[in-house]
Amino acid sequence: MANDKILVVGGGISGITAAVEAAEMEYDVYLVEREPSLGGRVAQLRYYFPKLCPPTCGLEMNYRRIKTNPRITVYTLATVKSVSGGPGNYRVTVEIAPRYVNENCTACGECEKVCQGERENTFDFGLSRTKAIYLPHPMAFPLRYVLDKSALAEGDLDRIMAACKYDAIDPNMQPQTVELEVGAIIWATGWKPYDARKLDNLGYGRFANVITNMQMERLASPTGPTGGKILRPSDQTAPKTVAFVQCAGSRDENHLPYCSYICCLASLKQSLYLAEQDKDTEIFIFYIDIRTPGRYEKFLRRAQEEARINFIKGKVAKIEEDPETKDLIVTAEDTLSGKKVSQRVNMVVLAVGMQPSLAEGEVPAGVSVDENGFVRISEGMYACGCARLPLDVMTSNETATAAALKAIQTIVRG
Ligand SMILES: Cc1cc2nc3c(=O)[nH]c(=O)nc-3n(C[C@H](O)[C@H](O)[C@H](O)COP(=O)(O)OP(=O)(O)OC[C@H]3O[C@@H](n4cnc5c(N)ncnc54)[C@H](O)[C@@H]3O)c2cc1C
Ligand code: SF4
Ligand code: SF4
Repeated sequence: MANDKILVVGGGISGITAAVEAAEMEYDVYLVEREPSLGGRVAQLRYYFPKLCPPTCGLEMNYRRIKTNPRITVYTLATVKSVSGGPGNYRVTVEIAPRYVNENCTACGECEKVCQGERENTFDFGLSRTKAIYLPHPMAFPLRYVLDKSALAEGDLDRIMAACKYDAIDPNMQPQTVELEVGAIIWATGWKPYDARKLDNLGYGRFANVITNMQMERLASPTGPTGGKILRPSDQTAPKTVAFVQCAGSRDENHLPYCSYICCLASLKQSLYLAEQDKDTEIFIFYIDIRTPGRYEKFLRRAQEEARINFIKGKVAKIEEDPETKDLIVTAEDTLSGKKVSQRVNMVVLAVGMQPSLAEGEVPAGVSVDENGFVRISEGMYACGCARLPLDVMTSNETATAAALKAIQTIVRG
């Protein structure tokens, strides 16, 4: 007989959706997330296209569904180490890294005030720093601090422990191993931005004012490094001219051979962020094709009407920096006019593509991935969201519901 429990790996919007859908059908679910919080990439976004609403509402609603459903067990800082068995009866070993902060934490923030050690804020893609003890992000679930022991300054441990009235800091916490028995597994491990440093000609990592589209989301966010003002990194001034470079890494046999599906829409959305901040900002989108599939075509019209966008059909050949002003000169061939374009701008946003989280890294035992790192589906092992292919949130959620149904079918079939 099949085990009637389901494991979901990855606690982004897809994994959360798969977990609540299965649990609301009265199946027990283990939700395993590698980071200290659920939420995944959507927690980093300012707004969702096409409605330009903040992702917080949807996340909050789903967190409530998790909190009120005893069938879901959440493990954070957790990774799958091994999978054995087959459809209907898997045995999974999960390793849980120590958080050094226990359930007593009220997220009061007193420890953070006295902590001197700092670490790079990976949630802001290096655009800010956090203290060694920190809340992963304002929409964290669980809403609990985490300690990075390697970032502590001398005397920090005594200071933070003295500041905590709730006895929540436990520096002696040890890694744990949990053995789970489940009937089906859903991989919802999502995506990571393609490493823009690999795109030599585009200057990312060398020129301060070349940023990625995910960094742009953090700059636009009220909880981001600039409190929601889009400022260029070199001098913290608001850019008056901004270029977007589409297909940065995508649709390129030397990098990601596929279309990342969402980056045209993301650049249109970010053009609206810029237009909202300053009606005079001029935007240049360098593209191969603008892809706004299905009903998103309307969003293209909206961006065209509301923002001062110049569309230039041409692949960017190179980006150079003016060392005096830190402005950038973007060179491309306009394929419609046949002319070479050299556009000076204050800031460049690279529309970097989505690479599956499991690409170029350690693939958990038992899961099969294709040549690009997307999860292959088989009986008992399903995948949803961007672990499966590049997707927007709406379609990710649809694939998550479908994966929950497939997992239940595996269990019911025995
Ligand atoms: C610049 C940009 C803007 C975007 N804007 C929008 C928008 O406005 N509207 C829209 O619809 N879509 C947007 N998207 C797309 C959106 O981000 C994705 O559709 C969404 O993140 C997919 O969710 P997911 O849960 O599949 O993956 P993710 O959000 O990546 O979540 C995956 C989760 O799995 C965890 N994980 C990874 N590996 C492991 C592992 N081995 N073990 C355990 N856990 C693991 C991760 O930590 C993460 O929490 C945008 C994308 C980009 C690049
Ligand atoms: S660890 Fe203690 S001091 Fe720090 S946020 Fe949690 S409860 Fe507050
Ligand atoms: S969505 Fe647009 S920018 Fe992204 S890879 Fe496809 S065509 Fe290029």
